[in-house]
Amino acid sequence: MNAHPFVSAEKANALAKEFGTPIYVYDEQTLRANAAACLAFPNAFGLTVRFAIKACPTAAVLKLFLALGLHFDASSIHEVRRAMLAGVPAEKISLSTQELPADFADVLRLGVKFNACSLDQLERYGNAFPGTRVGARFNPGMGSGGTGKTNVGGPDSSFGIWHEYAGEVETVLKKHNLTLERIHTHIGSGSDPVVWQKAALQSLSLVRRFPTVETLDFGGGYKVARVDGEKTTDLQTCGAPVRDAIARLAEETGRKLHFEIEPGTYLVANAGAILSRVQDLVDTGAAGRKFIKLDTGMTDLLRPSLYGAQHPIFLAKKSGRAVPAETENYIVVGHCCESGDLVSCAPGEPETLSEKTFPRAEIGDFCIIGGAGAYCSAMATKNYNSFPESAEVMLGADGNARLIRRRQTLEQIIQNEVA
Ligand SMILES: *Cc1c(COP(=O)(O)O)cnc(C)c1O
Repeated sequence: MNAHPFVSAEKANALAKEFGTPIYVYDEQTLRANAAACLAFPNAFGLTVRFAIKACPTAAVLKLFLALGLHFDASSIHEVRRAMLAGVPAEKISLSTQELPADFADVLRLGVKFNACSLDQLERYGNAFPGTRVGARFNPGMGSGGTGKTNVGGPDSSFGIWHEYAGEVETVLKKHNLTLERIHTHIGSGSDPVVWQKAALQSLSLVRRFPTVETLDFGGGYKVARVDGEKTTDLQTCGAPVRDAIARLAEETGRKLHFEIEPGTYLVANAGAILSRVQDLVDTGAAGRKFIKLDTGMTDLLRPSLYGAQHPIFLAKKSGRAVPAETENYIVVGHCCESGDLVSCAPGEPETLSEKTFPRAEIGDFCIIGGAGAYCSAMATKNYNSFPESAEVMLGADGNARLIRRRQTLEQIIQNEVA
């Protein structure tokens, strides 16, 4: 059995002793390496890399990326405020949101960049800030996601302004004397690189239509392999044709477009793991199944239940126990009171059991769930069954771990209730 790349059996025992379980563990070296890979994205005339905050909004992660020179993509006004509380300057945040609340102008006035994601948002922006520069998110007419739930382009998607409404956009711009400075597309998470390229190239036709545009923001969606058989998008291969197209546009028109990308998954997915304990072992008889019950589950890791997402799971023995030669096939389940809290599901099938082979497990051993840096802590059924939000830990480059979020208390779970 392979070991997890940064949570070895020894590390698992040490971390559990110091911080308890379940915990999220992030690896600073991996975060740094991922940021460097994104900052090397092919570009002709300059690049801004924005971390999609929604993938992992914990302040320690935002601060690290800020120090590494990244900017940020916020998907709600709340994310903007949260990033600012973590010390991110307003000018480094770009907002592309499905819901623009009534007080949006207060936040944008601080210097946050904005992509209008609908004609109504553009109209409201124009009313609040006539005569200014603005971005617009377009739906380029095609989308692609790792699952239907994360495909956010094409005719069945509500994200962005439909590409055929460029004329309506012009009308609103003119009405409020706005200058369109940036065009944004984001077609999905886990998108097919070929569709991504097609959408990116197609947004060039929108750029031609709007001569004031100086920046093209391609969004995120770059795939990451969490388990064998999945494929990580090669950013160099993916971005090169788009860079070349933009270089040609410059030769033709003199327009030197600035690039932006907004990776979430790519930056954090494989930089995070969940360290959990095997808290029970049960079986359903000789012809049945053997189950490992973890002290985590959909309360920390919703992606298997939501998408049938695959995460690598590693068994680590509790200290003092040798790895036994015998293996067993197990179904790995979470701690919530519903059968849907299935960690080892079949690909794309949240309800189908999929067996994992491990050295024989004992209660007290650990399961390390990899690929848990993106959309795990950020997107969990927190407090279901009244389980507290788990603690988060950062493994420094020196190998030392520090707490970056405390485990929630029961008092905090109920603090807003009015008896
Ligand atoms: C979610 C999102 C991203 C990040 O997507 P990943 O698949 O995590 O890279 C980037 N931009 C926008 C607008 C998003 O909504």
